[in-house]
Amino acid sequence: MAFAESAPAGEFDCDVAVVGGGPVGLAAAIGARLRGFEVVVVEPRGAAVDKACGEGLMPGAVAELLRLGVRPHGHPLTGITYKSAAHPTWRQAGHDFRAGPGVGMRRTELSTLLTERAASCGVRFRLARVESLVQDARGVTLSLASGNGDLPSTLRSEWVFGCDGLHSSIRGMLELDPHPLRSVRGGASDCASTSPSRPGVTTSRCTGRPDSSSTSRRWASG
Ligand SMILES: Cc1cc2nc3c(=O)[nH]c(=O)nc-3n(C[C@H](O)[C@H](O)[C@H](O)COP(=O)(O)OP(=O)(O)OC[C@H]3O[C@@H](n4cnc5c(N)ncnc54)[C@H](O)[C@@H]3O)c2cc1C
Repeated sequence: MAFAESAPAGEFDCDVAVVGGGPVGLAAAIGARLRGFEVVVVEPRGAAVDKACGEGLMPGAVAELLRLGVRPHGHPLTGITYKSAAHPTWRQAGHDFRAGPGVGMRRTELSTLLTERAASCGVRFRLARVESLVQDARGVTLSLASGNGDLPSTLRSEWVFGCDGLHSSIRGMLELDPHPLRSVRGGASDCASTSPSRPGVTTSRCTGRPDSSSTSRRWASG
């Protein structure tokens, strides 16, 4: 990974600031940490983050989690079948997984496993919301609000991963495409892209069409 300029010693609080402690943010944080980066996850919600979710991990997600050192436990899923409510016996579409089983588990349990793994490999956490960010030639300064009455603070980082969900405010702060899912629909794996004109900042897109500057490739080359 190449940085724009060498930074003065002590300028940065971390190498990578991950905005958002959902599954994508935590997985990205673990991945970056395993490659030797100092990582801070900024997430305003303290407990295991819950939200509406089908709570099934596809085989590819299980493989990625294992690669990150996270062993999902739950009910093995060998495939998916959709049945018509009107004609469930004869109108259905099914598919058996070919790359091993998926896993059915509570989202909160997955969040706990990812958080524990991140903490055990040295990822640090800030209980706060990113309110704004300013980028310069060497890095990014994030303004944080804790929401518990503490004074606003800042976090200085060389890189930012915007993993703050579908309605990403980081994407808005960077004036990137505000409606990335309108024309494309896809999965959440390998779902980050960089802003080529703004080195140092990475934002999640989840379009399922990673471009040539996807995060995983940057890590692989770094
Ligand atoms: C009904 C439903 C069912 C689903 N079922 C499944 C399923 O079975 N399997 C599956 O894999 N996926 C499923 N999904 C999709 C899955 O929920 C999403 O793909 C996943 O949550 C995306 O994770 P994420 O980490 O990108 O975002 P999120 O889970 O949305 O996490 C984003 C995090 O960023 C934080 N954040 C936001 N703004 C800021 C800020 N300014 N500063 C700091 N932190 C911030 C939020 O607090 C949040 O914790 C389902 C989705 C829905 C709606």
